[in-house]
Amino acid sequence: MGGFFGAVAGHSVLSDVFFGTDYHSHLGTKSAGIAAYDAQKGLQRQIHNIDNAPFRTKFADVFHELDGTAVIGTINDTDPQPLLIRSRLGRYALVFLGVINNKEELISEYIGGLSAQLGTMSGGDQNTTELVAAYINQKDTFADGIRYAQERIDGTAFILILTEQGTIITARDKAGRLPVHVGQKEDGYCVSFEDFAYEKLGYTTLRELQPGEVVELSTDGLKVLKPGCGRMRVCSFLWSYYGFPTAAYQGVNVECMRCRNGEILAENDAANGNLPQVDCVAGVPDSGTPHAIGYANRSHIPFARPFVKYTPTWPRSFMPPTQIERNRIAKMKQIPVHDLIKDKTLLFVDDSIVRGTQIRETVEFLYESGAKQVHMRSACPPIMYGCKYLNFTRSTGDQELITRAVILELEGEDGLQHLDEYSDGATPRGRRLRQRICEKLHLASLEFQTLEGLQKAIGLDPELLCTYCWTGKE
Ligand code: SF4
Repeated sequence: MGGFFGAVAGHSVLSDVFFGTDYHSHLGTKSAGIAAYDAQKGLQRQIHNIDNAPFRTKFADVFHELDGTAVIGTINDTDPQPLLIRSRLGRYALVFLGVINNKEELISEYIGGLSAQLGTMSGGDQNTTELVAAYINQKDTFADGIRYAQERIDGTAFILILTEQGTIITARDKAGRLPVHVGQKEDGYCVSFEDFAYEKLGYTTLRELQPGEVVELSTDGLKVLKPGCGRMRVCSFLWSYYGFPTAAYQGVNVECMRCRNGEILAENDAANGNLPQVDCVAGVPDSGTPHAIGYANRSHIPFARPFVKYTPTWPRSFMPPTQIERNRIAKMKQIPVHDLIKDKTLLFVDDSIVRGTQIRETVEFLYESGAKQVHMRSACPPIMYGCKYLNFTRSTGDQELITRAVILELEGEDGLQHLDEYSDGATPRGRRLRQRICEKLHLASLEFQTLEGLQKAIGLDPELLCTYCWTGKE
């Protein structure tokens, strides 16, 4: 995944972009960068690897190095960005967030057609952002180039550009899977993934962009370069998992959605006779917690925190290189409250179950800490398809999903013809899936949110939501 922030005004906006970008630290852990435009200095840039230190620490000296009346920043899990591009459109800084499923095809088409060379990343991969620039540069204007690149890319393409004229051009992806908010204050404008980031800096929301819409921000205001063009399919996981609790997308706040979602889960359990006798309801921190609060409020079972994550010395941005070290650190972070675990029957709510490895480790840790029984609820339906639209860090190939692995165990490849039945807890296949996952993860019971429940908790027209990872429907 990744986040972004940009601002333009008649004075320096470096401080706004520094703090605004820092507020996107929950969306990326690998790389961050800031590009600035100043009338005297022109385009300048700073990029850092942030996999072992937070954004704020790495960019502490940015106020001595850069300055600008138009500035953009990003935090992401992919290429070092913003890239500085030299082209017939002029020099510009470029940020790209998303996924290109037809990357090989675009690379061979570009290299074959124009005898051009693309750079490579340190790992040897072709640089995705540079590929996007190559497509933008083929047209006579940024707006035409962006539209062309988005049309050619199979996947998701959010684009943010800082021009050498000191304006910011930005485009929401064609399906609006990622949010793009525009904020304003007395003397300037900003663009941001998260709305709370600019609210803290004194901006108010001007509006969210439409899918595929391309706009230019300058001191004169917002100018639409290309109108919205796509059918909205905003990612539902924004609310259930990776959005920050104070954020709102399409006007729907994340924390409130999660509480509603937990309430609906509890209502479904009560209606189906699946409400277990437990000592308390708890969330798998952090994003499981508000889902659990909703479940506890509606079921009238006390809410508690049987373990707490130790975050002061282990910020999320710290990403050790090996899986063994990552597992060890995940374990070191979980600190039990013994009085709330020993001999207790617990119901945990997690945001989702993807491969099942994290839940397995959490459940083992609870039993090692003396829990009598652990029940689990997933705040979203069973994930049946890997995400092909976003660089969603926890998404994975279909074969790694615990649901697929269990279905293959239960009835081999034939089972993949019945994914809808397996999703539905009311069918015999649905019951078998849940039972087998319980056996594997040592759970006393497991239930999932329904698709209808999730859609109801978000509260938008279901036609506007991407739910591909649960339904496989585009
Ligand atoms: S497939 Fe899932 S994670 Fe990917 S964009 Fe759609 S809802 Fe979001």
